[in-house]
Amino acid sequence: MPSVMPKIAAVMGPTLAFLLDPEMTRMGADPSVANFAIGNPQEMPLPELVTALRDVLEPKDKNWFAYKLNEDSSQRTIAAGIQSRLGIAVRPEDVMVTNGGFGAIATSLRTLAGPGDEVIFISPPWFFYEALILAVGADPVRVGLRPPAFDLDSEAIAAAITARTAAVLVNTPHNPTGRVYPPEQLQGLADVLAEASRRHGRTIHLLSDEPYNRILFDGRTFTSPAAHYPATLLLYSYAKTLLAPGMRIGYIALAPDMPDAPALRDSLMLAQIMTGFAFANADLQYALPRLEKLSIDMAALQRRRDRLVPALLEMGYQTSLPEGTFYTMVRSPIPDDLEFSRLLRRHGVLVLPGTVVEVPGWFRISLTANDEMVERGIEGFRLALDAAATRT
Ligand code: PMP
Repeated sequence: MPSVMPKIAAVMGPTLAFLLDPEMTRMGADPSVANFAIGNPQEMPLPELVTALRDVLEPKDKNWFAYKLNEDSSQRTIAAGIQSRLGIAVRPEDVMVTNGGFGAIATSLRTLAGPGDEVIFISPPWFFYEALILAVGADPVRVGLRPPAFDLDSEAIAAAITARTAAVLVNTPHNPTGRVYPPEQLQGLADVLAEASRRHGRTIHLLSDEPYNRILFDGRTFTSPAAHYPATLLLYSYAKTLLAPGMRIGYIALAPDMPDAPALRDSLMLAQIMTGFAFANADLQYALPRLEKLSIDMAALQRRRDRLVPALLEMGYQTSLPEGTFYTMVRSPIPDDLEFSRLLRRHGVLVLPGTVVEVPGWFRISLTANDEMVERGIEGFRLALDAAATRT
């Protein structure tokens, strides 16, 4: 197989150009800029996170910093957390403790798909899905969500399935739209996958990328696709509840009725090694029982949403209240979202142009900004809108 890197470089071009743009880096470091570009922290880390990490750094035995795999204690903590929050009885041995959501996605793809296989992903996607599918030699197949609400489109997924389909990768709560898919839509998808698996004589696995499954607004509850479809791999990252994405810990958990679970479990463990030792670091695994209970201040996040979104609507922007995640999509007042994003930069506001996430004509706001940024940002959004209206 020739290197897939040229293809990956082409696919990642626009995202990397945005993320690595020197002006973006410079502005991101400037405290006077209202930074709504990506889900990075704009405040000091949770004090309880800092204490938990400090406590586990003191070695208790000679193996404290030895190689760590999917440690029993971590598997039990994670399985108990899934049981209490989602009501799903995952077996502890069916949990792989990964270095974040990236590791969970890459390991799952490496296990389930290879050259000749297709993996369906939904669009708008998270930036890295297509490249991660290409990285295992499989062919990415894009299926759009149904506008304007960005609903899951089971019929479109059904139409995209072929005899080569190995897996379908979905994301709920959904980055970038903030949608949380209701149980009916998840059941619709489960029915489609069960029927297609029977017809093609191969299990089509569902990869449920759900790092935001605890980032929910208005007292919403979350239903995982794993509760609807037995061949589901639940993929999680602690980066969102902790708002500490540089601390790499997440997991893969197999739904309780997963077909051939013991064999799949063994391949996943091997794939973690082949993915560059995609296990969570020792210190994070020791701290896990405490990390599992921690969360950013959801009331503050919701307060920012409830300040920013109505203010944008009042100015005349088209947007909506997200149901979950850190994000909301806003329609660009001019068709070219890249140009409008540049205009916003001139008024001290950083956003993610929709073009980067396959939604041209829109831009994405991250609510992980602090309160001050929200206030300054509102002024910047107003000035940029006026500037767009008076452009010739
Ligand atoms: N999936 C989605 C939808 C995400 O938004 C992210 C992070 N932005 C990830 C996966 C990866 O998570 P992590 O950085 O913790 O590996």
